Amino acid sequence: MHTPVTIIGAGLGGLVLARVLHVHGIPATVHEAEPSPTARSQGGMLDIHEENGQLALEEAGLTDAFRELVLEGREAIRILDRDANVLLERPDDGSGGRPEVQRGELRQLLLDSLPAGTVRWGHKATGVRALGGGRHEVSFADGGTVVTELLVGADGAWSRVRPLLSDAVPAYIGRSFVETWLYDADVRHPAAAKTVGGGSLLALAPGRGIQAHREKGGTLHTYLALSEPQEWFAAVDFTDGAAALARIAREFDGWAPELTALITESDTAPVLRPLSGLPAGHRWDRVPGVTLLGDAAHLSGPNGEGANLAMLDGAELGKALAAHPGRTEAALAEYERAMFPRGTEAALDGDRLHEWMFGADAPHALVAAFRQEDERA
Ligand SMILES: Cc1cc2nc3c(=O)[nH]c(=O)nc-3n(C[C@H](O)[C@H](O)[C@H](O)COP(=O)(O)OP(=O)(O)OC[C@H]3O[C@@H](n4cnc5c(N)ncnc54)[C@H](O)[C@@H]3O)c2cc1C
Repeated sequence: MHTPVTIIGAGLGGLVLARVLHVHGIPATVHEAEPSPTARSQGGMLDIHEENGQLALEEAGLTDAFRELVLEGREAIRILDRDANVLLERPDDGSGGRPEVQRGELRQLLLDSLPAGTVRWGHKATGVRALGGGRHEVSFADGGTVVTELLVGADGAWSRVRPLLSDAVPAYIGRSFVETWLYDADVRHPAAAKTVGGGSLLALAPGRGIQAHREKGGTLHTYLALSEPQEWFAAVDFTDGAAALARIAREFDGWAPELTALITESDTAPVLRPLSGLPAGHRWDRVPGVTLLGDAAHLSGPNGEGANLAMLDGAELGKALAAHPGRTEAALAEYERAMFPRGTEAALDGDRLHEWMFGADAPHALVAAFRQEDERA
C-alpha cells in the first residue's frame, strides 16, 4: 500500500498537518494508536496563542470555528503564595491573545474538518524501516504495514519515528504533575472555587506548586507540581486514590486550607504525570523522506507552548509541502530550518519559566517577570 503523506499520530500537531494538506488538496493518512476518538479524555484546557496556535488554525481555515470554542473569562490569572495571599491578579478583559479552549473540543474540530477515513484508528506504529530512496515502511501492532515516500512522526514524546532521525530519548526533568479534579465546584467546593476565581491560579513555593484552572461547567482541574525524583513517586501507591491524595497533601502541609482543598476534596483519584524533555537544541541532519513535528521533535517540560508549537509545526510543514510540489526534500529542509530554532527557544523559555515558578525565589520571581512584561507592553 502506498500513500503520499503518512502521518503517525492524531494529536493536535498531526491533525493540523493533515488539515492544512487537505486545504491544499494533498491527501494524507493519519495512523493513530488509540482505538477511537473517544478512547481517552484529552486533558484539560489549552490557551491558544496568537503567535503560534492561532496562526496554525488560521492556516487550517478554522479560525471562526475555533472562536466558538473559546471559554469566556478563562484568561484571568492570579498568583498566590502558600498562605493564599494574592500577589498578582490579571482579570480577563477580553484583550488577551491567549484564549482558552477545552483540548478535546479542539481536537474534535480538527477531526471533523478532515475527509472521512483520513484517520485510521487502532493503528499503533511498532516499527519503522528505511527502504532507501526516501521510502520508509511502517509496521503496525495489528500486523499491517505501509510503505510511504513521506513519513511524518507526529507521535508525541515517545515517538516510534524519531529513531530514523536521531538517537535522542526524553529524560525525566526532575518534576512531576499530579492531577486532581473537583466538579461543580461553586456548589460543592465553594472555598476552592472562590480562591481559583474565573480563570487560573498559580500558588507557588520553591520546589512545589498548585496550578488550577476553571474549566467548562465549573470543574476545577489542578496540576500539583512536585520537584521529586521518580523513585519518590514510585513509593506512593496511586492505586489507592485516598491514600495517594493524603500523601500528596502532606507535601503541602501548612498551606492555606482553601488551596489544599484542591487536593483533599478531589472528586477523582489523583493521576500521576511524570514530565520528560528532549535535550534543548535537539536536531538532526536531513534524512530523505521523513521528518518529525511537535513533541516528537522538541518535547520539553510544560511551558504552555507544547500544543501551540505542535500545531504551528503541522501548519508550517503543510504549507511548505504545498509550496514545493514534487520537491519534498526542499519542503522538509525549509520546514526544519525554521522549526529547530523555534523548538530550542521554547525549551529555553520553559527552563526560565520553571526557575521562576519553582526556584528558590518562587513565587516572587514569577510575579517580577509578569511585572516586567507589563512594563515592556
Ligand atoms: C500535564 C501537561 C499539561 C500540558 N499543558 C499544556 C498547555 O497548557 N498548553 C500547551 O500548549 N501545551 C501543554 N502541554 C504540552 C502538550 O500537551 C504537548 O506539547 C502536545 O500535546 C504535543 O502535541 P503532539 O501532536 O506533538 O503530540 P501528542 O499530543 O502527544 O499526540 C501524539 C499522538 O500520537 C499518538 N501515538 C503515540 N504513539 C503512537 C504510535 N506508536 N502509533 C500511532 N500513534 C501514536 C498518541 O496516541 C497521540 O494521539 C502539556 C503537557 C502535559 C504533560
